[in-house]
Amino acid sequence: MTMTSNDTITGLAARAVGVTKAYGTGAASVVALDDISVDVRRGEFTAIMGPSGSGKSTLMHCLAGLDTVDSGEVWVGETMLGDLGDRGLADLRRNRIGFIFQQFNLLPTLTAEENITLPLAIAKRRPDPDWFAKVVDALGLADRLTHRPSELSGGQQQRVASARALLPKPDVIFADEPTGNLDSRSGTEILRFLRRSVEEFGQTIVMVTHDPTAAAYADRVVFLLDGRLVHELSDPDADEVLDTMKALDSLGA
Ligand code: ADP
Repeated sequence: MTMTSNDTITGLAARAVGVTKAYGTGAASVVALDDISVDVRRGEFTAIMGPSGSGKSTLMHCLAGLDTVDSGEVWVGETMLGDLGDRGLADLRRNRIGFIFQQFNLLPTLTAEENITLPLAIAKRRPDPDWFAKVVDALGLADRLTHRPSELSGGQQQRVASARALLPKPDVIFADEPTGNLDSRSGTEILRFLRRSVEEFGQTIVMVTHDPTAAAYADRVVFLLDGRLVHELSDPDADEVLDTMKALDSLGA
């Protein structure tokens, strides 16, 4: 039986197939992604690791429709991103993707509640009150909703950003070093929440991190080196992740 591309992507929240991307031209050209293929399964927590410059951010930006590829295909669910124009990509990011950034990226003039509901407001969708309450409760933010970001700690700001990402129930949440700017206790809170959103709410998450302890919260860790996917671990523990990173660092050195 021949499989169409659509058959092969069933059960996948996102997928890169033979993706290549270079920055610059001619002698100054840098290959950031070198014929990389990776599947992101629905309801799974995937971590992307690799040495600095290995292509983690570029891969995440391409999967999230923030950047375009030179060749190969990127899919979010059943949608091939190469078929979408700028407007279609903006729509996809707005309606189907959630983002959590290292620097929180909250709007300073809005309250926590307004920040959390902003993506839905922009998409002209109304938050479901029960779901809103559940998300706010899961993040312990009920008594912080009227605060502005400047009145919140870093950990609280990242919890607001996490609620903002989860509330629209996106196909995928992309988290870019979400604990990179937090003390270890606040970081652990965020990682536990991400884990819980996968287990309890079936959320799909892709997280870029360089922290083996953070990666150990994932179901699966994929390792990049020089723009290629070179290794992966399932249900990893932090020691295994650290050993793999050490091995890759020595290969890349
Ligand atoms: P990582 O996230 O693993 O540190 P990146 O995806 O940021 O890696 O970068 C992969 C490669 O692409 C690196 O060699 C980096 O220097 C290069 N690169 C990334 N972004 C740009 C850019 N905007 N212009 C030129 N080179 C870039």
